[in-house]
Amino acid sequence: MDQGSGHDAMDQRMGDELSMEEAPGSDLVDPFGRIIRDLRISVTDRCNFRCTYCMPAEGMQWLDRSAVMSFEEIERLASIFVHRYRVEGIRLTGGEPTVRAHLAVLVRRLAKLGVDLAMTTNGATLRLLASELRDAGLKRVNISLDTLDPVKFEQMTRRDSLHRVLDGIEAAKAAGFDPVKINAVIERGVNDDEIVALAEFGRTNGVEMRFIEFMPLDATGHWMSDKVVGQDEIVAAIAAVYPLEQLPARGAAPADRWRYLDGVGTVGVIPTVTKPFCGDCDRVRLTAEGQFRTCLFATDEFDLLAAMRNGESDDEIAARIERAVGTKWAGHQINQVNFVRPNRSMSQIGG
Ligand code: SAM
Ligand code: SF4
Repeated sequence: MDQGSGHDAMDQRMGDELSMEEAPGSDLVDPFGRIIRDLRISVTDRCNFRCTYCMPAEGMQWLDRSAVMSFEEIERLASIFVHRYRVEGIRLTGGEPTVRAHLAVLVRRLAKLGVDLAMTTNGATLRLLASELRDAGLKRVNISLDTLDPVKFEQMTRRDSLHRVLDGIEAAKAAGFDPVKINAVIERGVNDDEIVALAEFGRTNGVEMRFIEFMPLDATGHWMSDKVVGQDEIVAAIAAVYPLEQLPARGAAPADRWRYLDGVGTVGVIPTVTKPFCGDCDRVRLTAEGQFRTCLFATDEFDLLAAMRNGESDDEIAARIERAVGTKWAGHQINQVNFVRPNRSMSQIGG
């Protein structure tokens, strides 16, 4: 199913390539003047972990396999974003992207688009896959690791897999990924006592720790604002032990970054809740079933997969993308009384 589907598709793509050569490409600009440069693509809603801040222990309703974009469909949409709209970065995510069979085949196809191709993963299978993905053209990986304590790891992910993730981090480094970034979601009363230990892990292992504020995208609805450990608190905890100096403004990247004054690396914080960075957002997203979202917290989606399967041309799909980007809002409203949670959780959107 992922290996291509015959002459019609090939003829269509050859025609599209010709029209792309003629079209110089233009920026995709939202109503607030933000230029879209970054596309997150979820390749599956499935996962081999069940992190408490993301999924329930049981009962996730998985998408039917036929509802998930094929590699060919992903490639076609990605190429519209890159060639028509000068999108420069693509990040593969999920669910857990590495549970998608033959992921390296997709990576190889997307790498041909010449973009900054990255992936966010829980790292559990990187021992097996890191080299293959790197050879296929993946440029960067972010690996999630929220605790260094095996017991807490099992509580947080509902899997006894800390050793696999640590192995995966080593494998990513050995495969030549540089930098390797490590994402840690900090939840008050769960792992906020490990902020300094995780920072030390980054320093010792030559990887950049990036602390993520807990967002209201958990499947069980247990998020509450008092469970959020904010950027100021995270930075203060680290700086009390390892003095820090903030690096210049982040631009469109989600993390604020600091360097250790002793010269041993850098650390980042993604302050979605306490210091929203929506004003600089250059991101859009595709869910595994081809729903186009203009914000992680969007409540509207635009069905590009159905459009594609209904035989729409690249021009027609591009027009849908432009209409959707025309609805991108100024920013999420997590801190406002009128905030409405999306009816999907992080793994279903693609974080
Ligand atoms: N499975 C991969 C992983 O865990 O890295 C990729 C998908 S995961 C949904 C992407 C990122 O979202 C991970 O870094 C994860 O820790 C983060 N995440 C999940 N739920 C979150 C939440 N409620 N608040 C903040 N970050 C969350
Ligand atoms: Fe899976 Fe990633 Fe969600 Fe954890 S955060 S349950 S690894 S998708």
